[in-house]
Amino acid sequence: MKADCIFCKVVAGQIPAAIVKRGDGMLAFKDINPQAPTHLLVIPTTHVASLDDAADPQVLGALLAFARDLARELGIAAGGYRVVVNTNDDGGQTVHHLHLHLLGGRFMTWPPG
Ligand code: 5GP
Ligand code: ZN
Repeated sequence: MKADCIFCKVVAGQIPAAIVKRGDGMLAFKDINPQAPTHLLVIPTTHVASLDDAADPQVLGALLAFARDLARELGIAAGGYRVVVNTNDDGGQTVHHLHLHLLGGRFMTWPPG
């Protein structure tokens, strides 16, 4: 756990969050500022700062599969959804604990801003 990391605090139960699914070293919870009817954050429970800092490809694969399975369970897979990984400053990353955004429940436009 990184002491000043808000997502580590979510994992530790020190910050309340609407947890949707947990297991296999992953946690999914609702984004506090949702940008779509479904907007979840999927994170590894151990601290990794960003995609650029993720050394273990197995963790990345597990994270993606976790989000994919969750989308099916939420009933948004067939309609479609978007997975976003903002990375470092130009990528728009504001919380420096690796997370996937799982967005769904509406049509997504392209390109992103
Ligand atoms: P980023 O900009 O780093 O890709 O995404 C960070 C996300 O975390 C944002 O969508 C923001 O709304 C969300 N967020 C920031 N602080 C909290 C928090 O304390 N709780 C929850 N559930 N989401 C948060
Ligand atoms: Zn962290």
